[in-house]
Amino acid sequence: MDEAWRAELAELIAIPSVSADPAHRDDVKRAGEWVCELIRRIGGSAELTPFGERELVLGEIPASDGDGSAPTVLVYNHFDVQPPAPLELWESDPFELDVRGEWAYGRGVADDKGQLWLVLKAAQRLVEAGALPVNLRIAYDGEEEIGGHTIADWIAQDERGADACVIFDGGMLRRDVPTIELATRGLVGVDVKVRTGERDLHSGMYGGAALNAIHVLTRCLDAVLAGPDGLLPEPLRAGIAPATAEELEAWSQLPPGAEAISEAGARPLDPKAGDEFYVRTWAEPSTDVNGIIGGKPGVRNTTLSVEASAEFSIRLAPGQDAETVGAAAERLVRDAAPEGAELDIVVKGSNPGLVRADAPAIQLAVDAFEQALGKRPLLTRVGGSIPLMPALTEKGIDTILSGFALPESNVHSPNERFLVPYFAAGIDTVAELFTALGRLNG
Ligand SMILES: [Zn+2]
Repeated sequence: MDEAWRAELAELIAIPSVSADPAHRDDVKRAGEWVCELIRRIGGSAELTPFGERELVLGEIPASDGDGSAPTVLVYNHFDVQPPAPLELWESDPFELDVRGEWAYGRGVADDKGQLWLVLKAAQRLVEAGALPVNLRIAYDGEEEIGGHTIADWIAQDERGADACVIFDGGMLRRDVPTIELATRGLVGVDVKVRTGERDLHSGMYGGAALNAIHVLTRCLDAVLAGPDGLLPEPLRAGIAPATAEELEAWSQLPPGAEAISEAGARPLDPKAGDEFYVRTWAEPSTDVNGIIGGKPGVRNTTLSVEASAEFSIRLAPGQDAETVGAAAERLVRDAAPEGAELDIVVKGSNPGLVRADAPAIQLAVDAFEQALGKRPLLTRVGGSIPLMPALTEKGIDTILSGFALPESNVHSPNERFLVPYFAAGIDTVAELFTALGRLNG
């Protein structure tokens, strides 16, 4: 690794910006300040800016040709990191960038400081060559690892917008198999409380005649679960944006779904779950009951319970609307309850995010990756939920979500690491990407 690069990145890694630990609150801010300073060194402007309860790095790096006609690209990364614990499992100091063999080690080197840094180095290279063809708007947060909402709130209120957004906070499928992730699933969380009487009763006296809240609850939950075909009831599938032919073709090149399930030590939901793994987890909604409370578990007794509660969550497929699906879920639960049962239901939700595979920014990005790496990136999706993606989708900002971490990068684990040659490859790719995005709106 280039010595000047190593020294620069080592400064950022050395700041223990652990957002989950209030004792590191000042370190999080210090990391933000350090990043602002790097942006200014590159020739841009940036300030650590209070927003809501936290602060964001907000900055700009103007296009080399300053006549104002260049497309605008929003860049997001995060400068906070996961806690390093358990420390004894680290083979080197988590806050000291250590290069051993082909890997660079340190907390945040993959998620996401190393990637934040390489994106800025690509911008720097283009600025120094007088060849940055886009106006970069920079918005970074220091609370990604604690699920902070500040960045999504900022994007929602931002009126300037952007022609595209670039987020490098992910990874390749495996070595030399880059991906661009087009979508994230949304999330609806539902709390259900059931009451069926004044007090718990003797089952010998009332069993067979009085409602039991636990029975009511299990019936209600059954109404929102997948059927034998593995699919949720139709009302919960409203609005699904089906995967495109290009996406399905890319997914067919991924490791078999049955393998993905068995490697996790899991059992398939039904006989088709392996074959349909990627469609089910990326392009279909799914319900999971996350917890049930009722009765007196572990104690042999003969009580008829009149109170029970559960939480379940629905991962929404791209294209779906959290409010619509949340209301449908509540209806299914209420319809499944017998007369006399009182239901108390609380629904909360966040939308999925989706970028169309044929969006011009995506097509330019696919070509740019191929140019830089000699490999076309696979168009994949994320089964989880990232609040930033729906915020961008709702603003109509096509987002290139990608990255250079690897499955063996130990993200969120001890000995987090980043493949050293991927710093140079990443900088080449991002420089090619910014150059290609210069042709947006052209
Ligand atoms: Zn991250």
